[in-house]
Amino acid sequence: MFKDFNEMLRVVIILCKDLPISHQKKIGLAINACHSIVDDKDKRFRLYSSLKHIFWYNKKAIEEGFSNYLSNQRNEILKMLEYHDVNCGISIEYQNCSICSDIKQTLDNIHEEIYYEREKS
Ligand SMILES: [Zn+2]
Repeated sequence: MFKDFNEMLRVVIILCKDLPISHQKKIGLAINACHSIVDDKDKRFRLYSSLKHIFWYNKKAIEEGFSNYLSNQRNEILKMLEYHDVNCGISIEYQNCSICSDIKQTLDNIHEEIYYEREKS
């Protein structure tokens, strides 16, 4: 479904922004675990298995089926990011960019978990 883990990561960060903090942290742990996996496909598999736990709380994901739901979200988010990447800092002022601030906020929310796991190892 995803071209590579980096693409998946970009989509998942956007996907996470409306989730409860506890779910965001769970995804943060999964992302951290992925950093120690070498194979790109295994990384995607690992992150997807954590996403599935979270999709059980998402009515739309249950209705559409997890993999359909993720695929639809992927297409929407990548379209949005494509537009964003061209326009951010040019026609949209970087400081006022809602997408950049959403990404920053989500990364701040999950950072604590990522940091904690790194310290332990
Ligand atoms: Zn931006």
